[in-house]
Amino acid sequence: MTKTINFPHDDATCGWYAALPEPQPCQRLQGEQQADYAVIGAGFAGLAAARRLAEHHPQARIILVDAQRVGYGASGRNSGFVIDLPHKFALEHPDPEHKQRLLRLNRSAIAQLQELIELNGINCQWSHAGKYQGAVGERGLAYLDHFEHLLQQLGEPFRWVEREELSGILGSHHYSRAIYTPGCYLMQPAALVTGLGRSLPGNVELLEESPIQRLERDGRGGWILHGTDGSIRTPQLLLGTSIFTQEFGYLRNRLLPVMTFASWTRPLTDSEMRIYGGQLDWGLTPADHAGTTVRMTQDRRLIIRNTYKHVPKYGKSTSDSMRKAVQASHRRAFLKRFPQLVNVPFSHTWGGVYAISRNFTNFFGQLEPGVYASACDNGVGAAWGTISGTMLADLAVGAQSQQLSDIQAVTGMPSLNPPEPFLGFGVRSRIRMAAWNSRSEL
Ligand SMILES: Cc1cc2nc3c(=O)[nH]c(=O)nc-3n(C[C@H](O)[C@H](O)[C@H](O)COP(=O)(O)OP(=O)(O)OC[C@H]3O[C@@H](n4cnc5c(N)ncnc54)[C@H](O)[C@@H]3O)c2cc1C
Repeated sequence: MTKTINFPHDDATCGWYAALPEPQPCQRLQGEQQADYAVIGAGFAGLAAARRLAEHHPQARIILVDAQRVGYGASGRNSGFVIDLPHKFALEHPDPEHKQRLLRLNRSAIAQLQELIELNGINCQWSHAGKYQGAVGERGLAYLDHFEHLLQQLGEPFRWVEREELSGILGSHHYSRAIYTPGCYLMQPAALVTGLGRSLPGNVELLEESPIQRLERDGRGGWILHGTDGSIRTPQLLLGTSIFTQEFGYLRNRLLPVMTFASWTRPLTDSEMRIYGGQLDWGLTPADHAGTTVRMTQDRRLIIRNTYKHVPKYGKSTSDSMRKAVQASHRRAFLKRFPQLVNVPFSHTWGGVYAISRNFTNFFGQLEPGVYASACDNGVGAAWGTISGTMLADLAVGAQSQQLSDIQAVTGMPSLNPPEPFLGFGVRSRIRMAAWNSRSEL
C-alpha cells in the first residue's frame, strides 16, 4: 500500500481543550522503532486498545501513535454524554438480544471508565447525571412517545418530566416534556481522554503529533508504519482511527465523514446564575435526533450542539462562512432556550468529525492478517470506542470472553456508498431534509 493519506484537520477552537491547563511537551515518532503491537489513533478506541494490550502482555512494547495531541480529535471535542442505551437506530433493532448485548457492552465501558477515573484521579467532571431526552413541538413529542414504547420493550427505567419541573432544572421553559433515563454519565471529554493518555501502563509509549503517512508490508508478515521523521515496524497493528481508517485503504466507500458542531459560553457569573435559574450538571439530547443537544456543565457553562455537515475532506471541508452560519444557528438555539441570558456571549465554537454508515452498522474485527480495526460508531463513541478498543485488543491477542462474543454479534460490515457525485448529493439532501423536518426541535 503506497497511497499518501489525508490527515485529521481539527480546528483550534475547541472549548473543552482550551479549558485544560497548557499541555506538557509530547514525545514524537523519531527514528526506526520496533514494537510488538502498534495502535494508531489515541481517541477512546485507541487508548482502550493500547491499555488492554498492555494488561495482556506487560512485557511487550506497545506504541500508541496519534497525528495530533491526545484530546484534540473527536474524542476530546464531543458533548460528553457516555450513554448506556442503544442509540437511535440500534434501539429499533428487531432482536431484543441485540439490544441487551449493546446495553451490556456500553455499561461495561462505563464501569471501566469509572474505575480508571477513580484509580488515576482523573479530574473530568465525571458524573452519574442521567440524561433528559427533550421535546419542544409535536414532532418531538411523537418521538418521545415512541421512545417510551422502546424503553418499555427494553425493560429499562425512565421517568417523564413535565414542563414545569423541567424548567426548574434547565432554567428554560422551551421544552414541553422530557423522558429522563438514569444510566447516562456526563464528563469533560478533553479532560477525560488526556487523563487516560497520562495514565497509560508503563509499557505503552504514547507518541503524539506524529501522523502516520503510509503503511507498508515488511515482507515478513508484519507492517511498517511510516511517519514524517520515523517509522514503526510491528507484527500487529490496531486501528483506532474512526473515519480516517479509510485513508489507509480499508473500508473504502463504506464510511461517511460527518461533522457536527458545538458552542459554549464562558462560566456564568453569580448574578447570571441567578438570572439563569436552573441547576448545574445536566444534559439533554433532542427527542428528534436532528434537533439540538444542550448541557450545563459543573463549571457553569451552557453548551449548544447542532448542525451536521458531510465533510469529504474532514476539517478542511469547512470555511469561515460555514462556521459563522453554524455559530448563528447555535446562537438562535441558545436564545430560544435562554432568552434571559441574551448578554452572555459564546466563548468558543468548534466542530469534530466522526464516521457513520448508511446501514448504521459498526465495523469491528480483522481487516487482514495482522490488522484490526474498530471504526464507525455512528456518532456515539465514548462508551462504544472504549469497549470496542478493549475488545479489539482481546481479539488481537486471541483472548475469549462473553464481551467479545457480544461485540462480534452486534457489529458487521458498513454498506457500500453510491459513487460521487450521487453520494454527496444524497447525504447533503438527507441532512437538509432532516434539519427542515426537525426545525421546531432545533
Ligand atoms: C461535537 C460532537 C459531539 C459528540 N457528542 C458525543 C457524545 O456526547 N457522546 C458520544 O458518545 N459521542 C459523541 N460524539 C462522537 C464521538 O466523539 C466519537 O464517536 C468518538 O470520539 C470516536 O472515538 P474514536 O476513538 O473511535 O475516534 P477518534 O476520537 O476520532 O480518534 C481517532 C484518532 O485517530 C487519529 N488519526 C487519524 N489519522 C491518523 C494518522 N494518519 N496518523 C495518526 N493518527 C491518526 C486522530 O488524530 C484521532 O485522534 C460527538 C462528536 C462530536 C464531533
